[in-house]
Amino acid sequence: GLIRVREFIMKDLYSFDIDEEGLDISYNKMLNAYQNIYARCGLPVLLVEADSGAIGGKDSHEFMITTDTGEDEMIHCPNCDYLANAEKAQSTKEKLPDEELLPLEEVATPGITTIGGLSDFLKVPQNKTLKVVFYIADEEFVIAVIRGDIEINEVKLKNALHCVELRLANEDEVKKAGLVAGSASPIGVSGIKVIADDSITSGANFVAGANKPDTHIKNANYPRDFKIDLITDIAKAKAGEECPRG
Ligand SMILES: [Zn+2]
Repeated sequence: GLIRVREFIMKDLYSFDIDEEGLDISYNKMLNAYQNIYARCGLPVLLVEADSGAIGGKDSHEFMITTDTGEDEMIHCPNCDYLANAEKAQSTKEKLPDEELLPLEEVATPGITTIGGLSDFLKVPQNKTLKVVFYIADEEFVIAVIRGDIEINEVKLKNALHCVELRLANEDEVKKAGLVAGSASPIGVSGIKVIADDSITSGANFVAGANKPDTHIKNANYPRDFKIDLITDIAKAKAGEECPRG
């Protein structure tokens, strides 16, 4: 089988085009050249949309071959040619129906610190909860909010925050920020950057943390109850979602 090579050999190529149109032509020429090479080698490569990484830029592709011993994940659509590295794949996530907004209501949740536990305890589906994850982005404490049934894609988060280094905040850093791990939410938070996945903009009446131990809040609604500095797609795309190409 073929796996991602451990020795990283890099080749740079600059096109010196004078505009984006020319760049697109050059880019496609290179793409064709590689596809021809792979075809002649008998390798059935897939052209996969990829994250550009630290170098940045608009378009980036990887050539991949599916194998059981592979080390990367790609998301593909069975109905069209959409194919993207899981790091990059756009998440369309299930949209939730609108509901009449109910008033905030505090509820005791003794010992409950996970979305799974919260969902079981209050008998609400995970997609009716809000999950909060704490990060340190280039020294800055940041709160990321996402619907409870979806995972955060840290590559997308890093790109959205335009930071060089991103890591999970540790227990001390969370405490210092005045937040409670397991019962946190953006409600009432100020002076901390809050970034959210666009999943929180569909549906209503979410269960969120109350920012005090063993307590959650029912019927949290954006933008009625909390502020977000930046809303974008920071979700891991999942199998079964609608194709981003519609
Ligand atoms: Zn498709």
